[in-house]
This record gives sequence, C-alpha cells and structure tokens, in this order.
Amino acid sequence: MNTISTEQLRSWDKRYIWHPFTQMQDWAQEEPIVIERGEGVWLIDSDGKRYLDGVASMWTNVHGHCRSELNEALKAQVDRLEHSTLLGLSSEQSILLARKLAEITPPGLDRVFYSDNGSTAMEVAVKMAYQYQVQRGRPERSRFITFRNAYHGDTLGAVSVGGIDIYHGTFQPLLFETIQAPSPYCYRCELGCTDPGTCGMRCLDSLDAIMAEYAVACAGLVIEPLLQGAGGMIVQPPGFLRRVRELCNRYDLLMITDEVATGFGRTGRMFACEHEAVVPDIMAISKGIAAGYLPLAATVATEDVYSAFLGEYSQLKTFFHGHTFTGNPLACAVALKSLELFESDGLLETLQVKITYLKERLSMFAGLPHVGDIRQCGLAAAVELVLDKDTREPYPWEQKTGIRVCLDARSNGIFSRPLGNSVVIFPPLVISLEELKLLMDGLERSITAVTAD
Ligand SMILES: *Cc1c(COP(=O)(O)O)cnc(C)c1O
Repeated sequence: MNTISTEQLRSWDKRYIWHPFTQMQDWAQEEPIVIERGEGVWLIDSDGKRYLDGVASMWTNVHGHCRSELNEALKAQVDRLEHSTLLGLSSEQSILLARKLAEITPPGLDRVFYSDNGSTAMEVAVKMAYQYQVQRGRPERSRFITFRNAYHGDTLGAVSVGGIDIYHGTFQPLLFETIQAPSPYCYRCELGCTDPGTCGMRCLDSLDAIMAEYAVACAGLVIEPLLQGAGGMIVQPPGFLRRVRELCNRYDLLMITDEVATGFGRTGRMFACEHEAVVPDIMAISKGIAAGYLPLAATVATEDVYSAFLGEYSQLKTFFHGHTFTGNPLACAVALKSLELFESDGLLETLQVKITYLKERLSMFAGLPHVGDIRQCGLAAAVELVLDKDTREPYPWEQKTGIRVCLDARSNGIFSRPLGNSVVIFPPLVISLEELKLLMDGLERSITAVTAD
C-alpha cells in the first residue's frame, strides 16, 4: 500500500525528476499523473483513475501490464540469479534467449550481441558495420547511407544516422556526417512528389544514384523497415524495402535494419522485414523484446559479419564494444517467457482482426474537418492534424495541437503521446477489440473537441 500522498509524490517529482523530452517549465505547471499499478492494457494512478495505455508505455508493452506468467518468470529468475556478466562468463537465460532469437529472426541472422536499449543496439550496429569493413581491408568505407526523417535513438551515433531536424539541429557539431537519402513521405517528401503511388519509386531512383556515387565510401545503409516510427509513423510503399535490399547487394553495402519499434509483432508479423522476405545483414531489436518489463536489446548479425571478427588474438579483430548489463538474466528470462506467450496465445494470429478493425476506424477519422494524412502499419498508426484540410497546411507547432488532444484524452480515460501534431495509436498487442474501440472512440472525441475552435 502506498502511504505517501499523491500530492507529496507530485511535489517531489517536480523537485527531483528531470523528465525526458519534456519542457520542465511546462511540467511544473501541470498536475502529473502518478502511475501506481498496471493491469492488462490499463494504467492506474494513485487516485485509482484508469487510463488505457494507448502508446504501450513508450511502444514496449506486448502482453499487457503485470501479466501473471511474466511476473512469475521474473520472480523465479530473481531467486536464482539477478545478474552476472557476459564479459568472461555466460548465463543460462542469455544463452537460451540468443538461441531463440536466432530461431525467430530471418534465416541467417544467428549471432546475437546484447545491449540494453534501442540506441545502444544501433550504436553497436554502426560500429560493427564499420569494423567489419576495416577487417575486410576497406577502411575507407566509413560512412553510412541514412534516410531523411529516420529515428534511431538519442545517443550521438544513433542521432548521427537519424534524420529528424530538431534532434540534429541542436547537436550538429557533435555528430558525424552521413549521406542522407529521401524517404517516401507522400506529399511531404523533399522530391516534391504529389502522388504517393510514384513517390516510393522516385525515392528509390534517388537512392540508386546516391549509392552509385557514394557506396565506395560507405560501410552500410541504415533503415527502419516498413515504418518510420518516431518520424511520424511514415509507412513505406510495398516493395520498397525489397528494392533497398537489392540495391545494398548491388553496391556491396551492409543493410542495417532498425526493428526497435517494428519488432515483436507490431506490424502483424514477428519482424517487419518478413513482409518483404528481406534478410538484413544486421538487425537491431529492443522495445518489445522483454514485453515492456525490463531494458534489453540485441544486435543480431549474419555469419558473414560475425566471421570477419574472427582471428588470432594478436590481430585485434575482437569487437571492441560492450555494456555492463549485457545479457541481464532477469530481462532475458522475461523475454524468453514473452516469446513463449507469443506461441501459447497465438498472439500473431490474433492481430489480423484488430489491424482490420483499426483500419476501418481510421478511415472514419478521414471525415473529421482537421484530419490530414492517416497512416497505419499493423497495430501502429498516426492521425495527422492539420489547420487546413485541403492545403494540408499544418497547425503552427507552438499551438501544441497534438499535445492538447492527448491531454484532453485523459478525461476520456486514455493515455497517449503525440508525435508533433500527429496523434499516435500504438497499444499493447494484447488489446481486445472492445478496448481498441474505447481507445478509438476516446481519441475521436478529443480530436473533434480540440480542433473545433
Ligand atoms: C525507440 C527507438 C530507438 C531508441 O530506443 P531507446 O531504447 O529509446 O534508446 C531506436 N530506433 C527506433 C526505431 C526506435 O523506435
């Protein structure tokens, strides 16, 4: 039982916590919700008020909060071993999980390098790709081809390979340069496309030309497969990823896919690249890996990549990278149990009907007066709010329209977080159709109310 009052907790929060991606001056004016319990798709605050977790607790939650099987797995593991290191030792849970990940990731991706968050999984991928090229005798291949509007995390290497201007702007002098390709962004892509049907092709032509010029100086290409998440849930047209894989082959570039957001069922398949039968050379996974319970990530590589790091000790081909909590047994135990639940619940099979329902509901949003682009990939979606529906003129960002919709949604019992002026739908995969209906009803009401003025 919580014996400390909500008021006390709020005041200590404002006194001691510096919240991520938050203007703390605004935060100090708000009455922050203090979450005390979780139950299925619901978060329950210290006053007992329930909120549907519309963003799966930062895109991590899969089987719901406090799922008994996961809780039991965690409790059982904590009584055996809470942590030991993979630097010089191994542990049962990290071995079993690596084996399982090799099995469920696309064929050929069999070598699992652990870390503990999505950004580090991408740092590992980038460093691995470069050292691979060095050890193949091509140290001049030090650059990366990246995409506009991409997001790969907040550490400096991850920001460098990302393509979102506001993150880049502030830290520019600290970042390494990349070669940025246009991403298919329908009516907003910088090629000036007006037809979403041909935008993908034009972006690919542009990528081809970029590779023809720069590939010899590049270690690899970095892409969020199918869906640019934090960039606004921007969906690539069918066939796009397949073509990117072909171009990487043609120009001998390592293909690094960032499945941190898309992995573990979000797109309707276990991994997004399965939709296009694409096997990357290196794949980063994190968010859903431990079902939202604990920080865990992995960078999974092919045998070709791995074998470039083998050699005599004195050759210094060792991969010089590692994190303290690599392969944490608690996180691995929960991840293993989560993958068991995927199977015993038939979770992937249950998704299709929810994805179809979400699609139908989203199409009804199109009629609202301030709704612009609507984007969906599996159980991830974004509804863009615009000042002018015809010209798609955006709301001035200072008006915080997306934020205001999400604040309003709280009164409908929904917790959501926008991406700019796009309202995000990214619920735990376990969500029921009735709960999904509640979520969509609530968001529709708040969008209507906030955009009415
Ligand atoms: C969230 C995210 C990351 C960063 O993960 P963190 O755990 O927040 O460091 C990287 N790539 C993608 C695609 C993401 O969605």
